[in-house]
Amino acid sequence: MPSDTARRLIRRRLSDEVGRLDKEAAETVALVYPSPYAVGMSSLGYQRIYRAIQALPAVACERVFLDDGGEDAGAQIESPVSYESLRPLGDFPVLAFSVAYELQLAGLVRMLDASGIAPERALRTARDPFVLAGGPITFSNPLMLAGYVDAVVLGEAEEIVELALRAVLDAPDKAAALTQLAAHPHIFVPAVHADRLPTIAACSDALLPAKSVIVTPHAELSDMLLIETERGCSRGCTYCVMRRTTNGGMRIVPEATVLAEIPASTRKVGLVGAAVSDHPRIEGIVRTLAERGTQVGLSSLRPDRLRGDFVAALAAAGHRTLTTALDGPSQRMRDIIERRGQEAHYLAAARHARQHGIERLKLYLMIGLPGETDGDIDECVRFVAELSKIVPIALGISPFCAKKNTPLCGMPYAGVDTVGRRLERLRRGLRGRADVRAVSAKWAWVEHVLSQGGEAEGLAVAAAVRAGGTFAQFKRAFAELGHRPDGRGYAEATPPVAPDRERKRRLLLAGG
Ligand code: SF4
Repeated sequence: MPSDTARRLIRRRLSDEVGRLDKEAAETVALVYPSPYAVGMSSLGYQRIYRAIQALPAVACERVFLDDGGEDAGAQIESPVSYESLRPLGDFPVLAFSVAYELQLAGLVRMLDASGIAPERALRTARDPFVLAGGPITFSNPLMLAGYVDAVVLGEAEEIVELALRAVLDAPDKAAALTQLAAHPHIFVPAVHADRLPTIAACSDALLPAKSVIVTPHAELSDMLLIETERGCSRGCTYCVMRRTTNGGMRIVPEATVLAEIPASTRKVGLVGAAVSDHPRIEGIVRTLAERGTQVGLSSLRPDRLRGDFVAALAAAGHRTLTTALDGPSQRMRDIIERRGQEAHYLAAARHARQHGIERLKLYLMIGLPGETDGDIDECVRFVAELSKIVPIALGISPFCAKKNTPLCGMPYAGVDTVGRRLERLRRGLRGRADVRAVSAKWAWVEHVLSQGGEAEGLAVAAAVRAGGTFAQFKRAFAELGHRPDGRGYAEATPPVAPDRERKRRLLLAGG
């Protein structure tokens, strides 16, 4: 049973939700998010699957989240219960986990351990719930889940979720369910497929756009209705899982459809997608919403799209921070990873921001890219200092972690020491000129090992979490598999470089 504190918290959150689809049905499954409520309710993918399950005949879904603070190293959590009925995980026939990123594996392990259900697939019995997974992580590395889950829906799950749940709920036993699921072209069943992955699903365009169901002040994106204006991306950044080769590139939701889906009374809307600012009518959408009095947030702005009129529209729609990606620390690195951003784009964005009263420019940056040197970091310091003379700058830094299903898959991690040293070089160079925040070099290495690893690396998470979940324990668990955070191979790594435009042109002219 949950503690009185947990009950009160759940009750208060439920009473503040708007739009929840309360439903009773013959069978109920748990939709589990291995991060806290505020994060889960800000996930459009999680909300999309909630809507899809609540639309099914004879099946209802109840939501379960990791305790607040449950992501911290050494966290002890209560036995998780569903928000709708306070039932423990063991009461549900199916636990459907939505997994967005690698480190959520620790949350999955903690939640199952705290429920008295073995996280390890091989240790569960026929009496235990069936553990299903899906979510953004399945676009890059579902293999890290293989030691824990019975089946994984790969890619866009909205059209598959009914079949997957019915296969489990209607099967006479788990073996029959696994056989049926394994026959599906987009469902990975580790017990059947081992490490042969089926293909990634793309849903019908007719099902776009995804739109959030529940709006709540307790989400990270507080009181915000989320809607996608496009899915996928037409660009080719070589580190990115959502690049143009994934699921057919960018699929655009027409302007009229987006606007019709947003009720006129909406106070805050978040426009979501891998490349929202590449929508050909994005400026018109933002302007119309601003005229309605709706505050607009955008999940991603490309530097080359931040022209004056667009920045003016964003300012009118309530933007106080303009966020875009610098990505590589230097032009050389941006060219290598095929980012289109040029210094001129960022300078223009900074000037437009100042002109339209936007308070600051926030830039995301990756360091530790293969082929990077201290000279690239120094160029970054010089350029960000120049930008900071135009508008206040916030720099959000993440160490590079290679992802599967990208051209940079297999590139080594720069090493905790190298990343730490370059980070310090940036901090020192930008002291007093930019607000610099960074993801820990140590935890980025853990992410890197999981993003490149398979079942064994995934299972090492359980050992690390049970030993306390600190970085030292992850380091020890991964060392057993031969992984070290020392950046071995990084100095010699050469990133694949796409042929430049001129060479491509010459090849074409020569008929190559
Ligand atoms: S990083 Fe952004 S622009 Fe580049 S491919 Fe990915 S989604 Fe597209």
